[in-house]
Amino acid sequence: MLPVLALVGRPNVGKSTLFNRLTRTRDALVADQPGVTRDRHYGFASYDGQRYIVVDTGGIGQDDEDIDSQALAQTRAALEEADVVLFVVDSRQGLMGGDEMIAEQLRRIDRPVHVVVNKSEGQVGATAVAEFHALAFGDPWAVSAIHGDRISILLAHVFEHL
Ligand code: GDP
Ligand code: MG
Repeated sequence: MLPVLALVGRPNVGKSTLFNRLTRTRDALVADQPGVTRDRHYGFASYDGQRYIVVDTGGIGQDDEDIDSQALAQTRAALEEADVVLFVVDSRQGLMGGDEMIAEQLRRIDRPVHVVVNKSEGQVGATAVAEFHALAFGDPWAVSAIHGDRISILLAHVFEHL
C-alpha cells in the first residue's frame, strides 16, 4: 500500500496548487473562487523514489457561511484515509478562525501533521511562519506552491517522519 498524504485547510489557501505541484499535473481545479474542489481528489506523486498518493480536499458552499463547515467535512473524510497530513494555511491572510477549527479536528487523530505556510514567496521564512506556531503542530514550513519554493525541503521532512 502506498502512503497517503492528505492536503487539508481552509478554502483558497492553495491546496489544489500544492496538489498540482506534488503530482506535476493540472488535474486539480485551481481558481480564484474559494470552494472549487468539489470532492476529494486523488493523484500519484513520488519523492526520492517513494511513490505516494496525494488527496486534495476542498470545501463547497452555496454561501460563504457554509464554506468552513463543508471544508471541515472534507477534512474529516480525508483524515480517515491519510497516513500523514499537510495542514495548509495562508501566510498572507495569517491565522484565521477556520484554521483553529481545522486544528481542533487534527488534534484528535493519531497521524503526523505538518503545518504548511503557503504563499510565502518573497518573505523571510521565520516571519512568515511565526504566528502559526500557535497551532501547536511543531515548526511550520514556509513554501510557495505556485513557485515551488522550499517544497523539496518540506517533503524531505515529511518522509523522514512518515
Ligand atoms: P484551494 O482552495 O486551497 O485549493 O486553493 P487553490 O489552489 O485553488 O488556490 C487559491 C488561490 O491561491 C489561487 O488564485 C492560486 O493561484 C493562489 N495560490 C496558490 N498557491 C499560491 C502561492 O504559493 N502563492 C501565491 N501568491 N498564490 C497562490
Ligand atoms: Mg482546491
